[in-house]
Amino acid sequence: MRNALGLMLASFVTAVLITGVWFWTSSPRADAAPPQTVAARVAEPLPAPAAAKPAPKDDVEITAGLSKPAPAPAPAAAAFPAPLPVRPAATCANPDALGISRVVVIDTTGGPGFGFLQYKQFDFLTDKEVVLTFDDGPWPTTPAVLKALADECTKGLFFPVGKHTTYHPEILKQVAAAGHTVGSHTWSHAHLDSKKMTEPQMREEIEKGFSAVKMALGTAPAPFFRFPGLGHTQAALGYLASRNISMFSVDVDSNDFKSSGPDQVIQNVMTKLDKQGKGVILMHDLQKHTALALPTLLRRLKAGGYKVVQMRAKEQLETLPEYDAMLVKDQKTPAVASRPISSVVQTVSQ
Ligand SMILES: [Zn+2]
Repeated sequence: MRNALGLMLASFVTAVLITGVWFWTSSPRADAAPPQTVAARVAEPLPAPAAAKPAPKDDVEITAGLSKPAPAPAPAAAAFPAPLPVRPAATCANPDALGISRVVVIDTTGGPGFGFLQYKQFDFLTDKEVVLTFDDGPWPTTPAVLKALADECTKGLFFPVGKHTTYHPEILKQVAAAGHTVGSHTWSHAHLDSKKMTEPQMREEIEKGFSAVKMALGTAPAPFFRFPGLGHTQAALGYLASRNISMFSVDVDSNDFKSSGPDQVIQNVMTKLDKQGKGVILMHDLQKHTALALPTLLRRLKAGGYKVVQMRAKEQLETLPEYDAMLVKDQKTPAVASRPISSVVQTVSQ
């Protein structure tokens, strides 16, 4: 028994040594590594062949950032995200649903812009493809928007206002839980192109907006941003680019905030869309008219042969700790509020 064990151990040590030498000699290196490095490398699992790495699904494309210089060669796992978990069409209860025709993953490196009204660099939508976007929530009207989207098994891109997420964090959680993409639309809906806006204020509006989304969801948002009133400045664009945040403009404006009712929202979208053929549609989940219009509007899109593209981020945004902390401080109630009511208010006479 002891001999057999000894034999097995000897074979194992020999195998390890052979593997170690092979690994060392086959690894490209400029300088000779000390022997202990070889031993350490043997203990590491061998890198799996590239073909075995999880690849994105066929319907997922890396759309933006492709024109940028490719980074240094990296393992496939680092270059591509894990397969996306959401494939709602397979579980859709509505056989005639609008659904999603494809999901695109955006590499936000350098801050690519979308929506031809302002950013004409990346024309990735093909004829009849649309992206559904919703600004200014979360709001009590948002669940009706979510229901309409769920009934059609389709997905949108939400740009919530930071302050609103602190009022209705549970509604924003519903948005994320339903598989929609969540970016940000500043902290307080301040117009960043205002002459009074200083650079530190601009950064705070952007960063606190994202930090608020993270605080509500417990997970990082997509690095997707829309300027309130679409008011951008070179300084703000430069800042977003430095943070690798994508900016979103519009192709088809629903003008829902000044519509007389749901019918006008539908007419605005369909008229412009039929003319342009495709595009990023701007709506507001905070608008009652939009929530009411959406079931019919989605049916009209389906009937018109339009297809919904969902945009997702290749990587989520890392919020900045100083702004996360600022937000936590803002939200903190004074310590006195934690005292039990009986220690503060006592009935002395009845
Ligand atoms: Zn807005």
